[in-house]
Amino acid sequence: MNKIFEWNTIDFKGKSHGQIHVPCPICKKGKTDGALSVNISEGKAICHRCESLSFRDSKSSLVSIEDIKPLPPRPISFFEIDYVSRTLKNYDNNSFVKFLKYYFLEDEVDNTINKYRVGTSKQSTTVFWQIDYYGKARSGKVMNYDSTGHRTGYTTWVHSILKLSDFNLSQCFFGEHLISTTNKPINIVESEKTAIICSIKLPKYLWLASGGGTGLSDSKCKVLKNRKVTLYPDNDKVYDKWKKRADELGFDISNLVKGNETKGYDLGDWVMHKISTVKKYDPTFDLEDYEICKELILESKTNEPKDCYDLNGNPIAQSQSDALIRLMML
Ligand SMILES: [Zn+2]
Repeated sequence: MNKIFEWNTIDFKGKSHGQIHVPCPICKKGKTDGALSVNISEGKAICHRCESLSFRDSKSSLVSIEDIKPLPPRPISFFEIDYVSRTLKNYDNNSFVKFLKYYFLEDEVDNTINKYRVGTSKQSTTVFWQIDYYGKARSGKVMNYDSTGHRTGYTTWVHSILKLSDFNLSQCFFGEHLISTTNKPINIVESEKTAIICSIKLPKYLWLASGGGTGLSDSKCKVLKNRKVTLYPDNDKVYDKWKKRADELGFDISNLVKGNETKGYDLGDWVMHKISTVKKYDPTFDLEDYEICKELILESKTNEPKDCYDLNGNPIAQSQSDALIRLMML
């Protein structure tokens, strides 16, 4: 159950409308903390870290804590796995997959998109299914790419396209269903595209995507318990936010792409850059054999997976991983 705080504990700093980010009165970390997102116009406030919430009534008067009857938590909505499976085709018309196959070996691409459950929508756009730790499909993020692998148009969701009005989306990491199949160190990037590229070229790690700069809430990160985790934020102001989260959650953080002259440069760009400058578009080029990759490997301190356990406390053995992944794909 969410904790609820009184609306008048929020410091508005003279604002009367719009959206502000302020320290959360429940899990406050200090003056500059912006975990609590307050929509003043709508009279709603929610903390992305501890998920505490508050709201004002329709007359805009304060609701006292005793009078607040929290809505019962809505159950998370899921898609049938059969539905997901039906989208895992038509890759000849999927620009993202075509882009990958231009740069990487066909088999590598096929294996990776199958493992991560990347699908194709009826409109031939790319569907990045979010399958949770327990193998349940939360929804699919739908994006379109041009032939150079750059995003075009806007981002939407499968449940939005299908106009499922009561759908309650609760996002998980992209690639989360792979956590219990491997004891590889986990690296988290922002974009799904980067997770796929890194998974193809840097397979010593399990790559997950947060889906954006704000995708590291406490509830979402629970599945990372007992694991060695390194964050790879994009080269922009998200770095500072993620640095704070890394400290709070006991994760490492990489500054490999930080300070690059291109704003928004990410690890996917870094990998593509290494590939295209070292050996012009040679899909057989093994990035992990290449000297420069030592930067990344050194940085994550250890290249060897440590002992790790699933959420039930059972040890995860490396040898399990490939067999399990294959089983999941049946
Ligand atoms: Zn909070």
